[in-house]
Amino acid sequence: MSDDVLTSLEACRASLRAAEAAPGELLEEALRRNQALDRGDRPVHAFLSTLEPEAEPADGPRGLAAGESGDESSLRDVPVAVKDNLCTPDLPTTCGSRILEGYRSPFAATVVRRLERAGARVLGKTNLDEFAMGSSTENSGFGPTRNPYDRERVPGGSSGGSAAAVAAGVVPVALGSSTGGSVRQPAAFCGLVGIKPTYGRVSRYGLVAFASSLDQVGVLSRTVRDGAVVLETIAGSDPRDATCQDRPSPRAEALDEVDLEGRVLGLPDEYLGEGLDDGVRALVEDLAREAERAGAEIRRVSLPSTPLAIPCYYVLAPAEASSNLARYDGVRYGVRAQGAPDAATLFARTRGEGFGAEVKRRIMLGTYVLSAGYYDAYYRRAQRLRARIASELRDVFEAGVDALLAPTTPTTAFRLGEHASDPYAMYLADVFTVSANLAGLPAISIPIGTVDGLPVGGQLLCPPWEEERMLGLAARLEERVAWSPPPLASRSDTEVGA
Ligand code: GLN
Repeated sequence: MSDDVLTSLEACRASLRAAEAAPGELLEEALRRNQALDRGDRPVHAFLSTLEPEAEPADGPRGLAAGESGDESSLRDVPVAVKDNLCTPDLPTTCGSRILEGYRSPFAATVVRRLERAGARVLGKTNLDEFAMGSSTENSGFGPTRNPYDRERVPGGSSGGSAAAVAAGVVPVALGSSTGGSVRQPAAFCGLVGIKPTYGRVSRYGLVAFASSLDQVGVLSRTVRDGAVVLETIAGSDPRDATCQDRPSPRAEALDEVDLEGRVLGLPDEYLGEGLDDGVRALVEDLAREAERAGAEIRRVSLPSTPLAIPCYYVLAPAEASSNLARYDGVRYGVRAQGAPDAATLFARTRGEGFGAEVKRRIMLGTYVLSAGYYDAYYRRAQRLRARIASELRDVFEAGVDALLAPTTPTTAFRLGEHASDPYAMYLADVFTVSANLAGLPAISIPIGTVDGLPVGGQLLCPPWEEERMLGLAARLEERVAWSPPPLASRSDTEVGA
């Protein structure tokens, strides 16, 4: 099987069509590649659990015999990876937390069911920062994931396992989730496309809640087109999620209908200022010039509340998390502390032993900002600020900007442990991504170059429900950038993918 068989939906289809690979073989190949990445003293560790290869018949349980159906779903028999905060009955769902070690959901998340209905095969569940709280995957209760491009560095987070799995060529596409940037940020660190849909575009049923008013399932892929195919498959209303709206799915086909010519791209001053790595800034400016050459107008805009987005997010997200995580008490889910003499001790011990440091920090922050004496000073103010951030963005779009162009992250992938003792430095990794979550907007990160051999992401933000425009513009920029990933082992001496 060719080296790049698992790098795109098209490559998978081509090898299935050429009968180079029987349907089950693609899955086995993916499992083999994953095992190879986990050997040695610096394992990538993209997955927390995978299917047993022999557990399924070679032609798979859902695959149709050739000619049985006219449905040429581009996902049929394609191995995909799913973040371990999406419920699956066939594999554990741990959210990267010891408190859910071994937990198995009785049902599948809507997005997982939709992928499987399209014929995709869920190969395994990917590593994440515990309950999706983090930007490096180091907060996982089961050990970190390493960046396949440099194993001394983080893949980003919290969907770091999904990003590493796609970047290392184990699967062509993967699902992640974004509360403040957890799809775009790891996409940027791993040279991938990361799509965060409009809030309400994709069902959250079966996505374990972190901050419900911000959470949204997203897609990691190598190309805009593959991401669009997955988004089209998983989007759409769901009676089980009242926040998921009844709108037609963005069509992957619409990519070709969008042009840069005549479009207005807004470049926000606040996204290009202090704290941004010079190399990253230069690549974003190159991208803007490239767009101009293709006939787009670049307009400088201002979003003055941008510096307040991180403080706003780190009041609201922990507040919602502190409430959502109250359910882990050792009674209904997962692990239970042994030998507690009464219920209160059972709850306290289970939570004390089961949650990691960052999760505890967020629960404390969240209960603090919601408490009677501080609610007005913190929670209510942050809610107002959220409304202001959203209205500044709305105003920019209403003034004729088609999309905002910005860096995805201030730096390239940092070293493992670099921010371990400074949570605030870690929080700043999301400075350019949280606004889209706070305002509920769709956003995408695409690879735009490398700095010192490490991938850099550029971001587009669009008005709500404008995914087709966003994906089309991203596809045109992708063509112009023509980025090709550096060799996997370029920055580390470990052998990969062998
Ligand atoms: N890094 C951010 C956080 O720690 C965002 C996480 C996310 O999007 N899930 O909360």
